[in-house]
Amino acid sequence: MLATSNAVRPKLPSFGDARRLVEEYALTLSPTRPEMVSLLEAAGLVLAEDLRADRDFPPFPRSTRDGFAVRVADVSTVPAELRCVGEIKAGATPEQSAITLAAGDCAEIMTGAPVPEGADGVVMVECTQRRGDTVVIQRAIAAGENIVAMGAEARGGAVMVARGTRVNHTIVAIAAAVGRPEIAVYRRPRVAILTTGDEVIDINLCPGPNEIRNSNSYSLAAEVHAAGGEPLLLPIAPDDPPELALLLRKGLEADVLLITGGVSMGKYDLVEQALASFEASIFFTGAEIQPGRPVVFGEVKSGERCTPLFGLPGNPVSTMVTFQLFARAVLDALSGMRPQPLAFAQAMLKSDISSRTGLTRFLPARLEGGLERPEVELLRWQGSGDLMAASRANCYIVVPPDRERFSAGEAVTILLV
Ligand code: AMP
Ligand code: MG
Repeated sequence: MLATSNAVRPKLPSFGDARRLVEEYALTLSPTRPEMVSLLEAAGLVLAEDLRADRDFPPFPRSTRDGFAVRVADVSTVPAELRCVGEIKAGATPEQSAITLAAGDCAEIMTGAPVPEGADGVVMVECTQRRGDTVVIQRAIAAGENIVAMGAEARGGAVMVARGTRVNHTIVAIAAAVGRPEIAVYRRPRVAILTTGDEVIDINLCPGPNEIRNSNSYSLAAEVHAAGGEPLLLPIAPDDPPELALLLRKGLEADVLLITGGVSMGKYDLVEQALASFEASIFFTGAEIQPGRPVVFGEVKSGERCTPLFGLPGNPVSTMVTFQLFARAVLDALSGMRPQPLAFAQAMLKSDISSRTGLTRFLPARLEGGLERPEVELLRWQGSGDLMAASRANCYIVVPPDRERFSAGEAVTILLV
């Protein structure tokens, strides 16, 4: 946060305003260039092409049950006795499945097999009794029951998944189903990660009594990778303006720069001063949130290139939360998709909580309680440096700036991360 010479604090944007600003900015960004990748490496990346059906889905009227294909009119009154004229298994050749049902006929059929000509329903095997070539149907069915019509899911040539969708296991399944061992995705945006602070040392070194190991670069690298980016760890910057400037210059060569530490009000919080020497445009410097109040968002233009940047407060939980609240939206956009809304939900509070007003607070919490009554409980924590509490959390309780108390049993908003 920019240190001001007098004691008057500048008015900071609310959480909602800061988030909106980042989302609007993200919408102006262009994605990285597309590349082809193996389907096995595509999860987490964003589609740079539409995935189209190479034929009708399903390609034939498909039975969804093991049972008997029937003419529905023949089983309108039950029990009904039908003559079994053949068997169709999944993967039957066209010759094997070339059965036509006449009135009073049925055919034994398996899940995933093509429904024969003349049939317009499948009675599940549990509702039938077989006696030689005769089958007694015990249950009437509606037309089309237990059949997915040819092309009902997608017509040949139709877009099944649109460009700009992040690939997850279901998208992988669709790509596989349309015969695409390779697909076009946007290259992972390169995200430079710069940690600052004289007290912070590399994790393979033995810390002195007042030193701490660099956990932020690693937590951010994991978050960046999960968000579809390629993390690039820079050396740790000391609290020294020329050295900091040198590393910032390096970081600005990436698609996004994440800086952690050095953005608070302290005498040695030098990041913003150093950014000023690059003529950075700063969109906000601080937001009314906790943890993460000193968060900085801006960009540096240099010739044709423009590098968005975030200064994330150095406290480990602040770094994690501000990455999720803000930086991830920019990564979404550079990866080729619209910034995704944050995953807010509501859950029942397990115990009372009280909070200070004035800031939107994101408090580490655990959502539990199962199917009937999901409950969320605040975790005890020692503030935004408490990695243990963060590691036990599976969500954050969001406390609005005007609420001082919540009682057990009340619905609260949670942020799933
Ligand atoms: P700062 O934002 O630089 O004022 O740092 C706030 C707190 O976060 C201090 O206690 C720092 O020691 C700690 N901190 C800063 N950077 C890191 C890091 N890379 N890993 C772990 N803790 C850090
Ligand atoms: Mg520091």
